[in-house]
Amino acid sequence: MKTFSIRFVLFCAIALFAGAGFCRAANDSIEPAIFPRPILCELSADYVPLVKIAIASADADAINWAERHLKEWYGKQTPEVIAHQADVAYLGDEEYEMEIDEQGVKIKARTIQAVRYALYSLRQIAIPKRGTLEVGGWITPKGTIKDKPQMNFRGIHICWFHESEPWEVERQIRLAAYYKMNYAVVEPWGTFKSNVAPWLSWPDATMTKKQIKRLKAIADDLGITLIPQINVFGHASQARSLAGKHATLDISPKYQPLFEPLAGWNWCLSNPETRKLLQALINELHEAFGRPPYFHIGGDEANLPSCPDCASQPYSKLFLEHIEAMNETISSLGARTMMWHDMLIERGDPRWSGYVVNGTKETAEGFLKFPRDIIICDWYYGAPRPSYPSMDYFKSQGFSVLACPWNVTNGTIAQCKYAHNAGIMGVLGTTWHRYFGRDMWTIYYTLSNMMWNPNVNIHTGETNMLRVQTHIRQIGWDMKLTNPRQAGLYYDEIPPEPFLNN
Ligand SMILES: [Zn+2]
Repeated sequence: MKTFSIRFVLFCAIALFAGAGFCRAANDSIEPAIFPRPILCELSADYVPLVKIAIASADADAINWAERHLKEWYGKQTPEVIAHQADVAYLGDEEYEMEIDEQGVKIKARTIQAVRYALYSLRQIAIPKRGTLEVGGWITPKGTIKDKPQMNFRGIHICWFHESEPWEVERQIRLAAYYKMNYAVVEPWGTFKSNVAPWLSWPDATMTKKQIKRLKAIADDLGITLIPQINVFGHASQARSLAGKHATLDISPKYQPLFEPLAGWNWCLSNPETRKLLQALINELHEAFGRPPYFHIGGDEANLPSCPDCASQPYSKLFLEHIEAMNETISSLGARTMMWHDMLIERGDPRWSGYVVNGTKETAEGFLKFPRDIIICDWYYGAPRPSYPSMDYFKSQGFSVLACPWNVTNGTIAQCKYAHNAGIMGVLGTTWHRYFGRDMWTIYYTLSNMMWNPNVNIHTGETNMLRVQTHIRQIGWDMKLTNPRQAGLYYDEIPPEPFLNN
């Protein structure tokens, strides 16, 4: 940090004052921009040919990574990559500096991740040389970028529904990585093809181990870690409650004892077979995802017990023992448990009035004895609030906390700013069933900017939508898409009615 000097601090202050990292506007035109907005980004209106990139990095694999991806992005006109010597020891794990002038591009980045981030930024401002029928070279604005994230955990939660297709999951993983998020939770909704319990999912489940392996390889290469999820409490149907489906019971009714009688929504916590099954499933999924450092166990929106065995026991104890058992399995695999927050606070408690609360006295009591290594994912999808008291509560109880917004732009901004000021672990944004259309671009745009630098002032104007569309198109090129259905924000040019005005 010491070499960041007064000059850098001044630059930051000016950049923040001028609208937080917006690249300098050229006269009467649309200026280039980078998402998430860098801490310092000074771009000139002058463009220079993109023919040489000198990279100083302490990671031996960084040059190889750069050459491989630049070739993928720029084809025949790939700029030459040169390793150069410079002091990079002072740079953080995800921090980079980039100078672009007539001599070429100079990048300083200690780690391969920081090299990725520098090149993701460069890709967003480099454009084809003008004046030819076909691409005949690349140009980029001259300038200076100095950049590092303000939050360490920058995650996105992605759903894999029965009707989701693997390319849609892949596109989100690629977009999240391109926008410098470093974790993606992938939640199967009756779609994980398990060997331990093949009957648990729909018979035509598409989240096969082969697909997971393919997506994990892509994610690792792009610098984002995939985290698996299964629901170990409510949502045992692996379907949205409105859908009224049950991925297990609609096809295999003989497994009813594993679930509470009321719609099979909760797992039956008093049945020892439930615990055995879930522990085996956690192990199987965790292995399929290559043993990542986290595992999400869901835990939201459960009902009261409806079977006589569960109902006759102190539910706080049953709930606590169940979560402890899940957490023990996850800990033994070298990972940390993540869990939604809403069952852990009591509905009716005035402290949480107006926020998301689904817990009872029993679940809130059980929670107080939870192992403190569990990460609490505090979700709220509404309009901005002046404070988010449950984030502070979980933190004060000794837990790591992630703030989890959805698709309300102003709400996301307020939550991320609050989370940053509260000094919690980071942000895990959600997409749910809105991973296309207007929601797709506003979610990824807003989240990535606010996770990277919550002090930035952003707006969701038409120009930014067009920028995100450009980035999604670049990802389509990387995926070698040829099907029009897989291009752009909607499957079809005329989207279904509910989305027409959305
Ligand atoms: Zn039960």
